[in-house]
Amino acid sequence: MAKLKKQDPQIAKLIELETERQKTSLEMIPSENHSSPAVREALGSILTDKYAEGYPGKRYYSGLQYYDILENLCIDRAKKLFHVEHVNVQPYSGSPANQAVYLAVLNPGETVMGLALPMGGHLTHGWKVNFSAKFFNSVQYVVDEKTNLIDYEAVKKQVQEVKPKLMWVGATAYPRVFDWAKLAEAADSVGAYLAADIAHIAGLVAGGAHPSPVPYVHIVTTTTHKTLRGPRGGMIMVTKKGLEKDPELAKKIDKAIFPGLQGGPHMHQIAGIAVCLKEAATPAFKKYAKQIVKNAKALAEALKSYGFKLVTDGTANHLILIDLRNKNISGGDAATRLEEAGITINKNTIPYDPAPPFKPSGIRLGTPAITTRGMKEKEMKKIAEWYNRVISDEKSVKKVREEIKSFCKKFPLPK
Ligand SMILES: *Cc1c(COP(=O)(O)O)cnc(C)c1O
Repeated sequence: MAKLKKQDPQIAKLIELETERQKTSLEMIPSENHSSPAVREALGSILTDKYAEGYPGKRYYSGLQYYDILENLCIDRAKKLFHVEHVNVQPYSGSPANQAVYLAVLNPGETVMGLALPMGGHLTHGWKVNFSAKFFNSVQYVVDEKTNLIDYEAVKKQVQEVKPKLMWVGATAYPRVFDWAKLAEAADSVGAYLAADIAHIAGLVAGGAHPSPVPYVHIVTTTTHKTLRGPRGGMIMVTKKGLEKDPELAKKIDKAIFPGLQGGPHMHQIAGIAVCLKEAATPAFKKYAKQIVKNAKALAEALKSYGFKLVTDGTANHLILIDLRNKNISGGDAATRLEEAGITINKNTIPYDPAPPFKPSGIRLGTPAITTRGMKEKEMKKIAEWYNRVISDEKSVKKVREEIKSFCKKFPLPK
């Protein structure tokens, strides 16, 4: 950062401080990761300089011969990795990708169904404060009150009553595997478009550690910066089933992104996504994806041995939701205390949370970033012990902070 240090030492200093923070603490927010230096080199490149409105071969700006090759390369890598027919790599992030799906397949006021936010759904799946509930008729489904799992029969029944035109499946805080076939049965029974939002689990799907929705759904949206471990960004994919339902679907999606919703694509970001897709196609990434889940399972078991109550009693993916009510601490207080100790997580609502949303009863944590640093099952036991000490005894925070600092030295960030 020699040039930055000279020209803008304040910003350079903040980047240095953040690097040090990442090095010396455990990033356990399940939607975060450590991208590779190669991804960041592409992201920080000269490609940020140009406008490229339109699509390869049909641009509104000149001087784009290399950008066309780049975007096509990115699209081809995504098609191969996820086995889909069509990909749009231009969404600025996950939320704009989802907005484009609405614009492509719904008219204002038509009906959409999604998992409710407090049950683990996403804002853009029809939550009341979001555009998706303001411009469309949003009906939300929930998880079962006893098991906290999706009750596929109940969802199917509701779908048949509500008859949505678009249905979302995907979550930000659901620690289990989705049964895509059952959801497809529900959506298909009323002719709804079924969109899988795999923002959290894209890396697991790419690496074979979570079943792929592709054979069952019409549309797949994702972010690129969570388990997929790329730069911030989004993608929309159209499946074979999607094109069979609606031969115009790919065109509708592309038109919705540009000119419907966005202007010039962020070509430096698309370059970073292309790099991450190449990384995600390697055997090493497959191993990584499987290790994320192994680590989450090992961590879940170790946490349970300290009396932590886990929503759905464990995990089958990359994340864990802890119900802290038996530990007499709120999710927010636990998050603050863990941060002081050097562990970053989220406070989070648990399904049917009796506490208000800004003071929820749970915390959400995950293993994607710490698995990137090379931690395995053995380290998960150690980490669970730290959670227990910090949450059961405020006075242990300082000591744990020192232990984590020295532990982190053995697990460097990606070089
Ligand atoms: C993170 C996420 C998004 C939104 O992504 P942003 O990049 O934050 O806009 C959408 N859907 C799900 C399920 C997510 O987890």
